[in-house]
Amino acid sequence: MVIVLMGPPGCGKGTQARFVCQGYPFVHVSTGDLVRAEIASSSHDSIQMKSLINAGKLIPNEMVFNLIMKSLSDPSRSYLCDGFPRTLDQAVMLDAFLNESGLKVDAVVNINVPDEVILKRLSGRLSCGVCKTIFNSHFNPPVQKDTCDNCSARLERRSDDAPAVVTARLSDYHMKSVPILDYFRSKNVLFDVSGDRSSGDVFAEVEKILKKDH
Ligand code: AMP
Repeated sequence: MVIVLMGPPGCGKGTQARFVCQGYPFVHVSTGDLVRAEIASSSHDSIQMKSLINAGKLIPNEMVFNLIMKSLSDPSRSYLCDGFPRTLDQAVMLDAFLNESGLKVDAVVNINVPDEVILKRLSGRLSCGVCKTIFNSHFNPPVQKDTCDNCSARLERRSDDAPAVVTARLSDYHMKSVPILDYFRSKNVLFDVSGDRSSGDVFAEVEKILKKDH
């Protein structure tokens, strides 16, 4: 089974992905995490990736697709894609790739959050680089400043959460995501969820979608 989580940066895809993978046998495939790991490994493409990510721009399709293909390699597993596809081309590529293994996108969960809420959320986002737990200095601060409640690692602010970069990422999202939503809607696999509420309430909706007969 393949589920895609969609929504603007900061809508809570990473948090929902962790909830899903804690309760269900999905492999979490986050292209943002894959790109950040690639940058940390100083691979051949890492310099180009770093300058694009820091400018809030998308990585070229071939580079992202190389990362995705390695991650979706076992057709007997269930996958939760987070941050991919981001463009209509990527959606078509994903469908073609899955089709070769007899798979398809079974459901796309589109988490809607207004831009003004996203801007406030991302200005306070703190992420744990070790266990990936996400905190927010405004809405969900850690007990001890800058320290992960879960694994005690130091919390980090993402360089691409700077306000100017967030604005660029949001406008890119609006320009490029609508065609993907229409594409999946026409295939009857798109489910809209309001993300402007507690992560537990959002997860209750996501679970209903997972339990549907796809
Ligand atoms: P995310 O963690 O999903 O917000 O992604 C962080 C950054 O990684 C994005 O702003 C892009 O620079 C890059 N990235 C992640 N997923 C993709 C994708 N599907 N296509 C192109 N670039 C991506």
